Amino acid sequence: MTDCLFCKIVAGEIPSQTVFEDDDFFAFRDISPKADTHLLLIPKKHIVNLDDLQPEDEALMGKMMLTVPKLAKQENLEGYRTITNTGAKGGQEVFHMHFHILGGSKLPGF
Ligand code: C5P
Repeated sequence: MTDCLFCKIVAGEIPSQTVFEDDDFFAFRDISPKADTHLLLIPKKHIVNLDDLQPEDEALMGKMMLTVPKLAKQENLEGYRTITNTGAKGGQEVFHMHFHILGGSKLPGF
């Protein structure tokens, strides 16, 4: 999508602190971290949020879940929190699906 901030980050049109990339996913450090480590994992495919998922995205989403612990291990996180906000009322500000991965020092209870 041409006017999507995260699509532009994937395309390298907007700089980011990239920590991971493969054929399907891209991960980078959140510009405004809410924890010692705060990553955003996104699919390269422009999917708005969980509500936008189609049946054909099933395998991609499975791979996305498996990528989360891979990134946590890469960042040496002993424990972490994974969040995805869905819709404006769910706190979503960027409308390209992303998993927040937060860790480092002990997180407060949720
Ligand atoms: O879940 P939500 O849509 O609110 O999260 C968007 C996240 O994208 C925020 O944590 C924000 O700090 C991050 N962001 C970023 N780089 C940008 C713009 C937003 O890391 N250029």
